[in-house]
Amino acid sequence: MAELGSTAFESLLLRIAADYPYIQLIESSKFSWHSRKNSVTYKKSIEDTGEDVLALLHEVGHALLYHKAYTYDFELLQLEIAAWEKARELANHYGNETALNEDYVQDCLDTYRDWLHLRATCPICFARSLQNSSSHYQCFNCRTEWRVSRSRLCRPYRLQT
Ligand SMILES: [Zn+2]
Ligand SMILES: [Zn+2]
Repeated sequence: MAELGSTAFESLLLRIAADYPYIQLIESSKFSWHSRKNSVTYKKSIEDTGEDVLALLHEVGHALLYHKAYTYDFELLQLEIAAWEKARELANHYGNETALNEDYVQDCLDTYRDWLHLRATCPICFARSLQNSSSHYQCFNCRTEWRVSRSRLCRPYRLQT
């Protein structure tokens, strides 16, 4: 059994808790940021892969940037990019540069880009369209309207295939 603070993840957790006492760090089944509760949930993994370090830095990035709900899908992608930029800063500050895997970051952002592309594509004529409310898109080409479900900040990193 690992002692507290014995892995890179655990020592990072302790340092973040000390530096940002106003962010609640809660153990859970996944990594996420909850703006209303000002809390970051994290999942302890058995293997020390470094992905948990990255995921924690990313969620704390959202927290430090005070990310809140958003209206348009493209805003989510911007928030994600900003959270990863903050994660890079934090990684440098805490000495976790080696955990910062750019391929992993780009994979995460790609899942958001794919998701955005899917939602924004007209189901009738396949034109790329604009969102006109948090739950509707309308095709500028054939005028078809379609609904999309409300999306949440911080979806899972990788889409299950
Ligand atoms: Zn269309
Ligand atoms: Zn995120």
